[in-house]
Amino acid sequence: MSKPYDFLIVGAGFFGSICARELTNKGHRCLVIEKRAHIGGNCYTEKRDDIHLHIYGAHIFHTSNEKVWHWINQYARFNHYTNRPVANYQGELYALPFNMWTFNQLWGVNTPEEAQKIIEEQGKDMVDPQNLEEQAIRLVGKDIYEKLIKGYTAKQWMKDPKELPKEIIKRLPVRFTFDTNYFNDRFQGIPEGGYTQIFEKLLDGIEVRLGEDYLADKESYHALAEQVIYTGPIDAYFGYEFGELEYKTTRFDHVRHEYPNHQGVAVMNYTDEAVPYTRIIEHKHFEFNETPATWISYEYPEPYEASKTEPYYPVNDASNNALFERYKSLAAQEKNVFFGGRLGEYKYYDMHQIIERALSMVEANWG
Ligand code: FAD
Repeated sequence: MSKPYDFLIVGAGFFGSICARELTNKGHRCLVIEKRAHIGGNCYTEKRDDIHLHIYGAHIFHTSNEKVWHWINQYARFNHYTNRPVANYQGELYALPFNMWTFNQLWGVNTPEEAQKIIEEQGKDMVDPQNLEEQAIRLVGKDIYEKLIKGYTAKQWMKDPKELPKEIIKRLPVRFTFDTNYFNDRFQGIPEGGYTQIFEKLLDGIEVRLGEDYLADKESYHALAEQVIYTGPIDAYFGYEFGELEYKTTRFDHVRHEYPNHQGVAVMNYTDEAVPYTRIIEHKHFEFNETPATWISYEYPEPYEASKTEPYYPVNDASNNALFERYKSLAAQEKNVFFGGRLGEYKYYDMHQIIERALSMVEANWG
């Protein structure tokens, strides 16, 4: 007897929602289940005081992939937001990413040649860097490291940068121009009206069950559909059989203020270790919103505990990657189950990469 659905899709984030839309367009019957109380995964935005809050951290869309840009524009109109974050070190403000404005603010230099000379001079003793601190000093010099990298990195990783492997930073974006645009991509922006409406359009006409955890009753859910697309954590799917994959996680504290403008920019990084949070996001600046109140979010890195805290950033070091490969071999043996997305593939993907991967997976298997 045939099952009620062709596809059960676990997770209503970008990966799952794109698969659901594309497969439905091809005539397949899809059911989406999502354990959170809302669709959108980590891209979910919520409207408060006419401001769209990025509930799980700032999401800035950027890509150079024309196909992806064309595809996403079917579901949203993007504004002209360009990410130009500011670093705050003990009240001193610096332009990011490191560029001629930053060098002028730090050293009073006006030309690329002067800046290059200082960086080279400050990094020259680090001939054979052994850890993240030494590697960073070699790449950008002591001043930038001390003021703009050291404290921020220590907070993000919850470790002294001297104890972190140098491989974490192979390159650091240094620009000898006055360009403060954080991304190098051709297309960039924030969807007008927030991200959630993109997911409402993607899932329009598709059955979605919220607040349901696939892993709570895998067998019964599986019995509903011929094939499963799973976008949750791969280690959780296999009951952590080989152990837990490591993630970095963050707590987001959202705070409302009765005044219109808190920091004058969407993203401000706090690079001093003594400040407990890494960033403050002021959401209204993503959309040039002129409301009388404002919403800001503090980001606090926290220790990760599988199944208790949210898995945000995979820690793709050698031991976690090796562990992932073991889970991947198990996944390859699962009949009619496809693993995808940031958690299913244990890889940090930006939104444009997830879109590309989801479209390719549907095309390759069911095109
Ligand atoms: P997710 O969005 O995580 O969706 C997976 C969904 O599956 C979740 O809703 C989860 O609840 C659900 N799920 C998991 N397990 C189960 C289960 N057992 N049963 C039912 N449902 C389940 N990208 C950018 O391009 N620009 C940015 O500026 C940017 N900023 C980011 C900031 C942060 C803090 C984070 C964490 C990510 C950021 N990203 C950014 C990346 C972006 O969030 C991802 O590319 C995208 O969300 C990945 O989509 P996904 O569907 O793979 O995963």
